Amino acid sequence: MSFELPQLSYSYDSLEPHIDARTMEIHHTKHHAGYTAKLNAAIAGTPLEGQSIEGILQNLDMSNGAVRNNGGGFYNHCLFWNVMSPSPKTLSGDLADAIHNSFGSFDEFKTAFSAAAATQFGSGWAWLCAHKGGRLEVCSTANQDNPLMPGVACDGVPILGLDVWEHAYYLNYQNRRPDYIDAFFNVIDWGVVANHFEAAK
Ligand code: MN
Repeated sequence: MSFELPQLSYSYDSLEPHIDARTMEIHHTKHHAGYTAKLNAAIAGTPLEGQSIEGILQNLDMSNGAVRNNGGGFYNHCLFWNVMSPSPKTLSGDLADAIHNSFGSFDEFKTAFSAAAATQFGSGWAWLCAHKGGRLEVCSTANQDNPLMPGVACDGVPILGLDVWEHAYYLNYQNRRPDYIDAFFNVIDWGVVANHFEAAK
């Protein structure tokens, strides 16, 4: 059994103008497909074959560069596609309350998340993570690391992730990462993030 590149539930051009179709297509069919193929190659014939991606990452030997980079890349992009939508649901309910309780207000959360994304040096990701009991935390990771991995950043479960590798935005935004981060907030599907929160807390 091997991991498969997920189909997107929306078309490549449907997140425009916030994220352009060419970036989406290359990102999904080249970058994410590449991580998926290399992950499958790295675990083939090892005890990791057949395990869930979450299990692989939570018990990862961080010195295993092939699984760290490609397992992270596989998982991170699955989450990224999943939390975006051309017709995103607004924030409400328990997750809205948890954001208020953890950050003070939505605007303070947005400021913290945007700062984590903007100040991650080089390639990496910004995360919103949920802890048992419902407390939320913002953090960032380098390369394809993520918070499920041992000893990495916040130790909660990631419920929202933003890819800040240049391949995620350079065609449309060039070096203007902050504009890309602002644009991402227009396509976050808070209904999906709320489902992740309910499962994690
Ligand atoms: Mn990427």
